Amino acid sequence: MPNLSGYRHALGGGFPGLRAAHSCCLPRRVSRRRLAGYHTRMSNSFHVQATQPGGLQAVVGTAVTPAPRPEVQAALEPEYLANRRQRFKTLVNRLTGGEMRRLLDVHPDAELIAFPLSYLYAFHWLRDAVHPRYRGEVLAKFRNPSRAFLMDLLEQAEDAAGFLRGYLEHWLQAAPGAVQQQRELMETLDRHGGDSERLLQTLLDAWQGLQLFRRTEKEAYRDLGREERERYAGMLGPQDRERLALVDALPDLPVEAPRFAKLGIIPAMGCPQNCRHCMFIWRPPMRNTPDPQQLMALVDRCTDSVLFTGGDLTRHLDAYYRAIGCMSRVRTFAILLNGDFASDPQATDATLKAMAEAIRGRPASWAQAQVLLQISFDEFHQEILADQEGWLRERIPVAKIANIVECAVRYPQIQLCLLHKQNALNFSMDLFRRGVVGRLVRELGRRGHQLQILGTAPSPRAKRNPLDPQQIGLVLKEASFVLAHHPDRPILLTSSTIDAYGRATLLEAGEAVNERDQLQQVLRQEVSPGEGFDTDLMFWFNGWATLFSAVHICLGDLYQDGAETIFARRRKDPLVRALAGFDRRLLALYAEVRNDLNARIRLATSPHQLFHSITEDAQVRLHMTRRLLVDV
Ligand code: SF4
Repeated sequence: MPNLSGYRHALGGGFPGLRAAHSCCLPRRVSRRRLAGYHTRMSNSFHVQATQPGGLQAVVGTAVTPAPRPEVQAALEPEYLANRRQRFKTLVNRLTGGEMRRLLDVHPDAELIAFPLSYLYAFHWLRDAVHPRYRGEVLAKFRNPSRAFLMDLLEQAEDAAGFLRGYLEHWLQAAPGAVQQQRELMETLDRHGGDSERLLQTLLDAWQGLQLFRRTEKEAYRDLGREERERYAGMLGPQDRERLALVDALPDLPVEAPRFAKLGIIPAMGCPQNCRHCMFIWRPPMRNTPDPQQLMALVDRCTDSVLFTGGDLTRHLDAYYRAIGCMSRVRTFAILLNGDFASDPQATDATLKAMAEAIRGRPASWAQAQVLLQISFDEFHQEILADQEGWLRERIPVAKIANIVECAVRYPQIQLCLLHKQNALNFSMDLFRRGVVGRLVRELGRRGHQLQILGTAPSPRAKRNPLDPQQIGLVLKEASFVLAHHPDRPILLTSSTIDAYGRATLLEAGEAVNERDQLQQVLRQEVSPGEGFDTDLMFWFNGWATLFSAVHICLGDLYQDGAETIFARRRKDPLVRALAGFDRRLLALYAEVRNDLNARIRLATSPHQLFHSITEDAQVRLHMTRRLLVDV
């Protein structure tokens, strides 16, 4: 897991992205005064009169009790088809637009065979990502006269050889014309002495040489999980301990008791879900951990904002209520949940009521406090999936999120914030009409709610549209809305990016916004102050103390090393300082001991992800620390 870039990304479900955490949804008390200011910053105020599209009506029934499958099917099918068509189109455009040519690299026929191999890639993707029941309908949208034969092959070919043979036969039988793909194929055939079997073998060899789709998704996740497990095995191992001893030996100035803008608490890391954008596959188990009272007392002394985070904390709410009941100085108790608890209005109310009562139960002499309830809500948590028979379901139904929205507005002790992951829809107000947010608006409309957008705020940096990389613009990062019947109870929505950690490593380009442009700025040394890693601390129930933006950078075990030692390490550690400022020296130091820096830069999705990836190995962290100490 992460850095809180890990955090923010990782706990996509359980975790907010880090940046999300930094900006609006973490440990800041959301007062009415602040919300007023928030609104004035926003533009594009408008109302969404939720309609009742037939497709979504049926889903609603599933919010309370499971609806008959045909109804669920009718509701979800248009959304499923739209999503897969968009992904198919994006994939083909990317591959035929140069990606396959780049993959083929120095192949002598690369220019000429890139087109059929792009579609062969799409052939395999369709078998991975689209249930056979829907392949024909997905492809129907693209079945224009010139592409009809390709769509037939994509749908009906038995295997790669069958697809390529069909492609060859089509152009060999077609009347000679001006079609570029036919000209390219004939030229390649000439290079093979007119022998179509030889050409077929060349195409198959080129495809196999790319080594794509060799593992199932399950196998790929298993391998990534094994790597994660190995990385965590180095946490506070001999090399980390040697590194920390170097830091401990550095002189320190006497300081006052530290204060933090926020501190994190991780009671547990498990999660029964397996979202495709989750930064975790393997999670460190935390069993039989010490009583957290000492940890809670420490956090209460050092901050007035705390975030409870981890995988899915639904089964660990007792620790959260206990914190509210014992941290007298903390004002904001943020918690990140994936919303799966909200099975029906009664279960939802039971959970939110317990949160509100925990706040109400605090003595009047304590700091006035509030729950900041962060609920993950994006195209991946609410992804529509097909089971083996082709029946559709949502991973975590939108109806559950609607239950939470409806319930939260009744509790003034709770500020609700939906955490969203940026995608192509964030480049316009389409965000509220389409995709998962559009589904929520329609679901609330079906329940009789009118949604009023109070305002929106853009990202501070322009970003690249993942569906059209030529388009660069500001994305809608934050929004605030109310239900018309509850005009005084604003609900926040904040969106962050996804980085390539864990399962998210396998996301398709086009599915989410990334920060590659910011990475280029960092590589050009155009870093703004404060743009690096968030170095506030996360305390795990097992004693680990890590950084918000880097849960792999552990500064010790609270129970073994003590809080003062951990705080001193955070002040003195040259690696922490370097990460906080995206110090480019780390790249050179990495290259001294590893030979894959360029590959890591090429695949990085953000500066956070790059600096995270080059510090994941305990041996590398030790090397960097030694070398930074020489530079000091
Ligand atoms: S699997 Fe999904 S719900 Fe669970 S922590 Fe990961 S992103 Fe969150």
